[in-house]
Amino acid sequence: MASSPLPALFHGKEGENAQNFLRSTEAYFLINRITDEAVKVALFSALISAGSQADYWWTNLDVAHKSTWTLVKTAFENKWPTIAAVGKTKLEYQKELLVLRLKDEDIGERTTSAEVTMWSHIHFHNQLQMLVQDAGVVNAPVLIHQVRDALPRTLRDLTTPAPPDWNTFLNEIKDVNVDILQDKAKWAKERKEAERAQNAHIARLEGRQHDSVEILPLQMQQASLGTNNSPPPRTSSTTTLQTQVPGNFVHQTLGPRRPIRYTSASQAPTGQRMMRGPPTQEEKDALRARINDLPHHTDTEAGHVAYQEQLRQWATRWGEGARCTENTPFPLMPGAVQICSGECFRCGAHGHIGPACELPPEAQLLKSETIWRGICMRTLGTFNRATAPQVNYMLEEVYTPDAAEQGKGNGSSA
Ligand SMILES: [Zn+2]
Repeated sequence: MASSPLPALFHGKEGENAQNFLRSTEAYFLINRITDEAVKVALFSALISAGSQADYWWTNLDVAHKSTWTLVKTAFENKWPTIAAVGKTKLEYQKELLVLRLKDEDIGERTTSAEVTMWSHIHFHNQLQMLVQDAGVVNAPVLIHQVRDALPRTLRDLTTPAPPDWNTFLNEIKDVNVDILQDKAKWAKERKEAERAQNAHIARLEGRQHDSVEILPLQMQQASLGTNNSPPPRTSSTTTLQTQVPGNFVHQTLGPRRPIRYTSASQAPTGQRMMRGPPTQEEKDALRARINDLPHHTDTEAGHVAYQEQLRQWATRWGEGARCTENTPFPLMPGAVQICSGECFRCGAHGHIGPACELPPEAQLLKSETIWRGICMRTLGTFNRATAPQVNYMLEEVYTPDAAEQGKGNGSSA
């Protein structure tokens, strides 16, 4: 029989693994079929390093404890107790459970874990399921609410509001219809993009000192919206969604038309408090004169041709992509409302104000026009308000996200 090597000598030093020494000693007994108690004790004694702390202990251990291997082992374990592996407590798992997150942007996407590709919500489900077991809550309906609340809205909406137990909740996540989830995720992403673009625009205006004249009206509009505590004026007669795309009479070379057209409104906007800044009379007169520099063309083919020419000339004169200032009057979109008439700077219609504008950024007015309208209104006020025909917009395309949201009627819930 091949002899197995003797276990390493034991010293009883700090950091020495006493349990491993005991195990390898017993393994040695087994492999070598040592059953005799006295032989076991003798071998153990021989494995204690001479002059070590363990040797000191062994020497001073009374004879009664050395009579059998079982007694020796007990004495040894009393001297060098088992080091309990520091596993995570249930409480720690519960904490992990509460901070486990599925990111919004991962919803509807695949992820790879342990070389297996799966939907991110399935991966999340698997992690959650393990944590629920480790946290010892699998049979208790606790923490479900908190975890559900932290889910991305797209996924949360597809689970029941108050799952009775973890299994129900976990199964709901696992069995989510991926098509619906992806649809919702796509819509959420588009909406986020639109918000980001608007926020960036406002931030850009806020970030530039000399642009304060432009942001102020926006801020005042927001403030006035808040104090009036009323939703933006909007009735079915003034804003209409329609699927029909009317004939586009604008020549191709003019570039894409904005997918809106303007329609007269009988109802004047309410609750809009306009704010006058501190410009001097000279400044006002100068700006008032500049407003008339460029004719505001009508919403006809000829009007759009003339407008495109105005844009070209503006770019030639002030530079392509130049920033619009009070000295560089910007051409006004044909069909958009008169300047300084209490209009939304973003879309050029009445009935609502910039922060409440529902047009997606790509359909809004050119940024320079938004800025120009802001400058004029801040300096001159809404001097055209009384006489300007009230105009609201009609979408010529259905913006599916909006339509879907409004159709479901859940746009403002939770
Ligand atoms: Zn608008």
